[in-house]
This record gives sequence, C-alpha cells and structure tokens, in this order.
Amino acid sequence: MNTGMNTDMNPAAKPLAVITGASSGIGAATARTLSALGHPLLLLARRVERIEALGLPDTLARSVDVTDAEAVAGAVREAEALYGPADLIVNNAGVMLLGEVSRQPADEWERMFDVNVRGLLHGVRAVLPGMIERGRGTVINVSSVAGRKTYANHTVYSGSKFAVHGMSESLREEVAGHGVRVVTIAPGAVETELLSHTTDEVVKADYQAFKDSIEVLAPEDVAAAIGFAYQQPQRVTLRELVLAATAQVA
Ligand code: NDP
Repeated sequence: MNTGMNTDMNPAAKPLAVITGASSGIGAATARTLSALGHPLLLLARRVERIEALGLPDTLARSVDVTDAEAVAGAVREAEALYGPADLIVNNAGVMLLGEVSRQPADEWERMFDVNVRGLLHGVRAVLPGMIERGRGTVINVSSVAGRKTYANHTVYSGSKFAVHGMSESLREEVAGHGVRVVTIAPGAVETELLSHTTDEVVKADYQAFKDSIEVLAPEDVAAAIGFAYQQPQRVTLRELVLAATAQVA
C-alpha cells in the first residue's frame, strides 16, 4: 500500500502537513504541535515573516492569500516536491468581522465568505486529487461553535461557518470510499487575534468583555484536538470535535 509517506528515502519520515493561517493563533499553535510530532510543514498566510519567526525545522513558509486558488495550489506543489505528498491539510485561515446585517458594510460579508468558504475550498482542492489517488489523507476544516448555532452579531460569520460544517459533511461522503478522512473542528472562544479585525467598536467591546469574563480556550488547546484527531488510526475518523472553555455558557 502506498502510505503517502516518503518511505523510499527514510522509513521513519513523517508525511507533509499543510496548514493555512499559520501566522498566528490556532494555526501557529497547530504548526508547533505537528512539528513536534515530526512532520515537515507547508505553512501559509499573508504575513510570512510571522511564520518564519516560529523557527520550525523542515518547514516551507509561503506568503499566500487563500483566496488565490493558484497561489495555494502552487505552494502545495512546491512543498510536495521538497517533502513528498501532503497527507494532511488543516484549513484554518479565517476572518471574523462581527456586526449586524442592517449596518455592516457588504464588503465585510464578502471577505468572510471569500476567506472562510472559498479559501477553504482552495485548500481542499490543492490536496484532494492526490489524496484520492493515494487512497489516504486527512482534511481538517476549522469551523466554529458558530457553525452549529447562532450568536448575537454573528450572522454572516455564522453563515460562513455553517457552510464549512455543511461542506465538510458532504465532502466526507464524497471521499470516504477513497480512504480520505474529513474532520470538522468546532471551537468556542479562543484567545487569538481573531476579534481584532471587527470594525464595529461597540460590538468588538461587547465580545471582548465576554472574553474577559471567563477563561477562554488557548490556541494550544485547539491544536491538541487537531493533533489528536489526526493521530487516530487511518481507519478512524473523528468526524467532528466540538470544544469550548468549560466556563463558556452558550
Ligand atoms: P487569528 O486572527 O489569530 O488567525 C487567523 C489566521 O488566518 C492568520 O494566520 C491569518 O494570517 C490567516 N488569514 C486570514 N485571512 C487570510 C487570507 N486571506 N489568506 C491567508 N491567510 C489568512 O485567529 P484564530 O487563530 O482564532 O483563527 C483561526 C481559525 O479559527 C479561523 O478559521 C477562525 O474562524 C476559527 N475559530 C476561532 C475562534 C476564536 O475564538 N479565536 C473560535 C472558533 C473558530 P495573515 O493575516 O498573516 O494572512
């Protein structure tokens, strides 16, 4: 069986893992976790200097906007030429621009769907044909608890994350027969830069007050869940992991 690993060169070598949105928060923590497990990495985000500052071994860092399908595919090709076929992609890049639909600028809706939905599909497409051909591989899509239920000021963000949940479920049906796993990770609030891009200052202050009122998850908590799902035997798919701070009520 072709394991998808670079076994010709080194039987102990771990296969390539691709992570989008690796310059901060959950993506950077996941990069550290997978690197510690011995995987060579392709790390993508626009701020490549932040990725390089992680200082991880066997890592290709590329400044890629996930809304650019060709740039994502090109970086994957380059990494596969160096490290062998991608066995894992963590589609993590995302933006959260909270606000009320009645007042929110429409370009904020477009950005969320562009990055959270179209960008995620670009990641999937860059690795999936190879995974199907090899009969193995894992796609981990980072959604949110806001992809399962609704919250105030989250309408469009929630819509983009419900899309991630729905597409992940359907994609699993598409590829299960080819030995490819699809995992959805749905975290509650995590201490990252995610909120910083919201432009409505009142909404931002409200959400910050909620975050300050409890001990939210750390990015490492989500990275550990991603590592746990990936390390299951290939015949086991943890279809969805939902995790939130114990103190998060809703
Ligand atoms: P951060 O803002 O800390 O990280 C977001 C990452 O996405 C950054 O690395 C950023 O890199 C990258 N990114 C954003 N836009 C693009 C783009 N167009 N092209 C490439 N990369 C992009 O937030 P988190 O770590 O919290 O977010 C990671 C994921 O987790 C997101 O999908 C988010 O929705 C999800 N999530 C987060 C929760 C939270 O409470 N923090 C809760 C539930 C889910 P750069 O700007 O350098 O391009």
